[in-house]
Amino acid sequence: MKILVTGGAGFIGSHTVVELLQASAEVIIVDNLSNSSPQALQRVAEISGKAPQFVKADVRDRAALQEIFKEHQPEAVVHFAGLKAVGESVEQPLSYYQNNITGTATLCEVMAEFGCKQLVFSSSATVYGDPEILPITENAPTGATNPYGRTKLFIEEMLRDLHVSDPEWRIALLRYFNPIGAHSSGRIGEDPAGIPNNLFPFISQVAIGKLPHLSVFGNDYATVDGTGVRDYIHVVDLAIGHLRALERLAKAPGLVTCNLGTGRGYSVLEMVAAFSRISGCEVPYQIKPRRAGDIAACYADPSFAKQELGWQAERGLEEMCQDGWRWQQGNRQGYRGSNG
Ligand code: NAD
Ligand code: UDP
Repeated sequence: MKILVTGGAGFIGSHTVVELLQASAEVIIVDNLSNSSPQALQRVAEISGKAPQFVKADVRDRAALQEIFKEHQPEAVVHFAGLKAVGESVEQPLSYYQNNITGTATLCEVMAEFGCKQLVFSSSATVYGDPEILPITENAPTGATNPYGRTKLFIEEMLRDLHVSDPEWRIALLRYFNPIGAHSSGRIGEDPAGIPNNLFPFISQVAIGKLPHLSVFGNDYATVDGTGVRDYIHVVDLAIGHLRALERLAKAPGLVTCNLGTGRGYSVLEMVAAFSRISGCEVPYQIKPRRAGDIAACYADPSFAKQELGWQAERGLEEMCQDGWRWQQGNRQGYRGSNG
């Protein structure tokens, strides 16, 4: 099968491309490299023993997309490309609406023009806002607390409208929980620019000594130890979820909305303890006030994904920490410090 992967040089995209290539799919990547490195693509080829085709372009560039569809005629699209930093989205909302919403609308228009109507979309657990009931099922109420989350909600709505207007579309809306870790080869992983916003890369940079200590944002939540609880999922499990979603779309028409999570939540302090144990390094931390917009706890009910896609996460916290640590140790400066 020929699959177009937008944002395929990024964190989740690169891991998904490896799984697709290993499953014998033909992969074409379109990425503007605004938040990724061409090194990731070389390493994807090295791991897979096959190179994906790559076009450096923006998904808002209609003519570039038309060229890609004309030349490659992909049968399905996995759409990762977009901006994802919550804080930045509050400061620059228009660039989030422009990149994420206009990008997706342009992509879908070109897909329709070329008769390609199978789409897997990267949504997020952020669409649940502050959940009232845990674990979270797909029919829980939605609501966003920042522009990034609103782009995900609006795109979901847009894709539902598209499906109503033309039921030939086959669409999977995958709501990711918190992807962490890295490929077991240690060759691809998460490479945040500057100081990480997310917990896992922050902990890992403290463990290796790049950052002096972790700030724990709040220890007065109604959780096991007062710190925030999230459903961390190994990025390779998440990547495999996309393969199962593509198989599901190939089998039957419709629009499916699925949580991709493990169903198990861990607190910030549990994450610190697990990472210290696996890495053998101390992770000093200081308790700080709550971070604006944060919620106490968020974890998935993953049973619908199992039923609908035949998918469930297989890798536990230990493996997430081991693989993330291997990546961090081998790539202290991420892709930037490397020539190959
Ligand atoms: P990432 O930034 O590593 O990957 C996104 C890729 O898209 C990057 O390679 C970037 O260069 C590219 N890109 C951005 N805008 C583009 C555009 N207009 N045209 C072409 N390429 C563009 O992010 P990621 O963590 O791999 O996330 C992938 C998707 O999953 C995003 O849509 C994100 O919102 C969603 N998501 C991520 C998380 C997470 O915690 N990482 C959680 C939920 C949802
Ligand atoms: N967190 C923290 N210190 C950090 C980054 C995150 O204490 O430097 C906490 C955050 O408050 C939340 C959890 O770690 O409870 C996960 O945060 P992350 O930003 O990784 O994911 P999200 O909040 O988007 O689910």
